[in-house]
Amino acid sequence: MTSDGASRRREFQGIDMQYTHDCDDCMPLGEFTPPLERVGDLPDNYDLYYCHGVVVARYGSDGPDYHSTDLVFTVGRKCNAALAEAGIRAIRYIEAELTRSRIGNK
Ligand SMILES: [Zn+2]
Repeated sequence: MTSDGASRRREFQGIDMQYTHDCDDCMPLGEFTPPLERVGDLPDNYDLYYCHGVVVARYGSDGPDYHSTDLVFTVGRKCNAALAEAGIRAIRYIEAELTRSRIGNK
């Protein structure tokens, strides 16, 4: 399966992601480079996504090259730095969508 849906959203948002990702439902949240002191064994570059309550931090174009966790587990940072950042961006995205839909319903 291609990433046509995700590609369309990327173009729409003007977000450039570096790795191939094959889920059409994922909302791209941009790239992320963890602060140096936090990298440790982690890859040093990620593409972040939000998808149906889950955040994804992809660090390569092969299928399994990603970390993911439920959005709720990113609160309080019970996850790595990339997923924590994805959680922050996902919540911002959700808030913006809620505001937009409220305005739209008036
Ligand atoms: Zn997805």
